[in-house]
Amino acid sequence: MDGSKTPSVAPVLILLGPPGAGKGTQARMLEDSFGLVQLSTGDLLRAAVAAGTPAGKEAKAVMEAGELVSDEIVIDILRDRLAEPDTANGVILDGFPRTTVQAQALDALLAETGQKIDAAISLEVEDAEMVTRISGRYTCGSCGEGYHDTFKQPATAGTCDSCGSTQFKRRADDNAETVASRLKAYHANTAPLIAFYDQQGALARVNAMGDIDKIASDLGALVKTAVA
Ligand code: AMP
Repeated sequence: MDGSKTPSVAPVLILLGPPGAGKGTQARMLEDSFGLVQLSTGDLLRAAVAAGTPAGKEAKAVMEAGELVSDEIVIDILRDRLAEPDTANGVILDGFPRTTVQAQALDALLAETGQKIDAAISLEVEDAEMVTRISGRYTCGSCGEGYHDTFKQPATAGTCDSCGSTQFKRRADDNAETVASRLKAYHANTAPLIAFYDQQGALARVNAMGDIDKIASDLGALVKTAVA
């Protein structure tokens, strides 16, 4: 990682990794530990689809097919979100960038405010594990806390640990067929970003197989160094 960042500038972290690597779960844990804000372009796009905005209408079918939404739409959505005041203390980007064009746009956007990436952390997992992980996952319909049929059940069955809600939901694109397309899109477009950030001296890697708390602890140690 690059030690030359300006300490007064808010941290910008990127979580890289295939669908199901645990980016969302880990980003939420980092929000709690470091006071950073999670920016998930997947969440922003799902909100746009639900709200029926022009971007949402364009993105809907693409997301259902497990393909990538256009760089233009995603960059616009991210730019608007980054302009909101709650991002001032630092952000964890989850699911963005996913292409080299997005990565270059992010560098340019951050440069406008004298910022740059503190670390791009690659969550390293094996494809074979992804289908199991994705097909069992669900979230609290109220606060968004993530759960899994096998790996992470609520302490009290049917009740969210974080907010007590009893409403849960599963994503429409978390099915075996779409997961295959999402993995393909990851390998074709997003995996090359690992080399992109390595060349910038910003890359760190975390073994993201196994226990969620162990992964969180390894990741937390890395983030602590990156934002120090
Ligand atoms: P995610 O919640 O990150 O798994 O994203 C769900 C879906 O939203 C992806 O399969 C893509 O169709 C779309 N998506 C999210 N982020 C991006 C991005 N940065 N670039 C292109 N498409 C995206």
